[in-house]
Amino acid sequence: MKIFLNGKLVEKEAALISVFDHGLLYGDGVFEGIRSYNGVIFRLPQHLRRLENSARAIELTIPMTAAELTAAIRQTLRANKLRDAYIRLVVTRGVGDLGLDPRKCLKPTVFIITDRIILYPENYYRQGLKLITASTRRNIPAALNPAIKSLNYLNNILAKIEANRAGVPEAIMLNSQGYVAECTGDNIFIVAEKRIITPPTSSGALDGITRQVVRELAPKVTGKPLSEENLTTYDIYTADECFLTGTAAEIVPVSEVDGRKIASGHPGPVTNKLIREFKKLVKYDGVKI
Ligand code: PMP
Repeated sequence: MKIFLNGKLVEKEAALISVFDHGLLYGDGVFEGIRSYNGVIFRLPQHLRRLENSARAIELTIPMTAAELTAAIRQTLRANKLRDAYIRLVVTRGVGDLGLDPRKCLKPTVFIITDRIILYPENYYRQGLKLITASTRRNIPAALNPAIKSLNYLNNILAKIEANRAGVPEAIMLNSQGYVAECTGDNIFIVAEKRIITPPTSSGALDGITRQVVRELAPKVTGKPLSEENLTTYDIYTADECFLTGTAAEIVPVSEVDGRKIASGHPGPVTNKLIREFKKLVKYDGVKI
C-alpha cells in the first residue's frame, strides 16, 4: 500500500512521522474523510473547502493548493489501484519541540491514506441500528467549535466508549444546553410531522457533506421540506423515522434509541428513498480519478 507523505508516495512501512509532530503530541491538525465510488471522488471540492475552513479556524496554512491536493489524492488512488475507497487526508501542524506553541512547527505535515472501506454491516441498512444518548456532552463552540474537523476527537471518543459499553454502534451527543447535536461520527435526522429535521450547526453539529446532500435531495425526492431545528431526545423518541448520515456510513436507518423503538422499529419509506437516491448520486457527483 502506498501512502502520500509530504509530497512523495511511500510504502506503508516507510510512511512514518516524528514523535515530535504536534498532530500526535497535541492533536493539533485537521483532517477529512472522503469516499470514491467507482472511480469518482465524491464531492471532493466540498471536502477541500471544509478542510480549508478548519485550517483557517486554527490558523494553519495548508502548504498545498486545492488543485495540488486533488492531484495528490488522484495519484494515491491510482498508485493503489483503488476505484472504491475511503480517503483520509490529514494536515498536522508539523514537527516542533515539546510545548504547545504552534510557532515551533515550521512545516505542516500532509499525508493521504487510501484504503478499502469498512462500512457498517449490511443488516444495519435493512434493519436499522440502535443508539444510546451519551452522557458526554458535545464540546461547546466557545471552547472548541465542533465545526472544526480537527485531530482532537477525544470528545467524540469518550461518547463512543459509552456506546461500546452499551453494546451499540453509535451514540447521540447532546450539547451543553441539552439539545441534540449529532452522533460521534455522524449527523442525525428525524422525519416528523411531514418534515425532515436535523439540528442546526449552531447546536454543535458538524456541517457534514452527506448532511448537505440530504438537504439538497430531501425536498426533491421525498416532497418533504427540510428544516434545521433544535431537537430534544423526546423529539427523537417520538419521530416517525430517524437516520444518520456520514461519509463512511452514508445514510443509515436508526431502529432504536435508549431502548425505545423508533415508530415500528423498522426503516421508514423516507429513509429508504433517500438511501436509494444517494446511491444514484454517488455514481457521478465528483472528480474522476
Ligand atoms: N459529525 C462528526 C463528528 C463527524 O466526524 C462526521 C464525519 N465522519 C460527520 C458528522 C459526518 O460528516 P460527513 O458527512 O462530512 O462525513
